[in-house]
Amino acid sequence: MKIRVLFLLFIFCFHDHFLFSSDDIDDISEIVNADAIKIEDKIKSSVLWSAIGDALGRVTEFENMEQIYKKYPNGVRSFEDFEDYDFYVKEGKKVALYTDDTQMAMLVLENCIKSKKENLDLNQTMQHLADRFIKWVNNPDGGNLDDKKGLSHLRAPGKTCIASCKELANRKGLRNYFYIERKYTKDQIDGFAGFRDRVWDIPPEYTKLVLGDTWWQCGTGYYKKEEKEGGSGAVMRAWPFGICFYDNPELASIWAAEHSKLTHRNPISLAACAAIAIGVAYAIQSKSVDFITEKMIEVAKKYDAKTSEMMQQVVEYAKNKQISPEKVFEEFQGWAAHEAIAATIYIFNKTPDDVQTAVEMAVNTPGDSDTIATLVGVLVGAYSCGFDKIGKQNLDLLEDSDKLLEMSDRTTNF
Ligand SMILES: [Mg+2]
Repeated sequence: MKIRVLFLLFIFCFHDHFLFSSDDIDDISEIVNADAIKIEDKIKSSVLWSAIGDALGRVTEFENMEQIYKKYPNGVRSFEDFEDYDFYVKEGKKVALYTDDTQMAMLVLENCIKSKKENLDLNQTMQHLADRFIKWVNNPDGGNLDDKKGLSHLRAPGKTCIASCKELANRKGLRNYFYIERKYTKDQIDGFAGFRDRVWDIPPEYTKLVLGDTWWQCGTGYYKKEEKEGGSGAVMRAWPFGICFYDNPELASIWAAEHSKLTHRNPISLAACAAIAIGVAYAIQSKSVDFITEKMIEVAKKYDAKTSEMMQQVVEYAKNKQISPEKVFEEFQGWAAHEAIAATIYIFNKTPDDVQTAVEMAVNTPGDSDTIATLVGVLVGAYSCGFDKIGKQNLDLLEDSDKLLEMSDRTTNF
């Protein structure tokens, strides 16, 4: 890339002496801008296809293949295949709702934009994200299933995310009590440890953890509990790190893995989060399928060997015509984080150039279809740059498509 730009600058500076007319110079500036334009297009394609996949997969999640084809004889390929009851009527307009996957990913994306714009560090970024997740779990349209007035029940938020976000809220409350209401400084609190532990009967290790800078490393709660949260609730929303920090894939993968700890602390979730973030970043950079696949498997291995082995295994499956997609999706249903990333990388290796077919394949699966379709949409959407394939009708029906487009623009134009 650098060599190409230097070459073009060289030609530009010396064009009077040889080669080009003034018309050709306009062409050159277009070439210089071509990569920048393409990156914006790739981001737009990635973000929107992710939401489309999620909204399509909402109606097939929890259904096995027999149930899917009984309800939808052609499978679910676009919103045209929806039954009337699959839509939600919002302000008099028929809408294809997205699920908790896109909803939480939008919070992460907004937070990543803020972090990049304000040059925040990891801790600051995660603390702001924790605040957003706390609001989400209290929102009847988000993670608050108790308030029946909202759309929460239609989005099927994950139990682990809900429990973890409630724990984040507990910790935030405790921090506010010490730091704000009672106006103690951190040093003073350290001195009061014995006092507050007697008052609340809270173990000192817990209080220390909650009042420290990394209080957001939470999971479902009790600090002594085994770190077993390994569902796909974090990987489904980890991709915005790859979108926002596409120019630094390594950082994108590290922060995506760290962000998992807000709700999912199991190494399989950390590995899957790191993999999708680095994959999306390199897809935006227009690296090859093999390069992207290799980097995703390599980074997963840093966190969990089993996850990377599963990813390696499905890449072999994708090359082997004897193994049918049905067999692969039966084995990797996507309920756990390593299965979700394995199913994703399988489809990416099968159909990297055709996002429509890739998402269709992900939607019509027996497991966590919305999450697999979200991840496939974001990865293949970035790689193949297929925004135009969404079609106006699908875009009009997708919930908040305007907002998603506006957010995509802001990831590159602050
Ligand atoms: Mg979902």
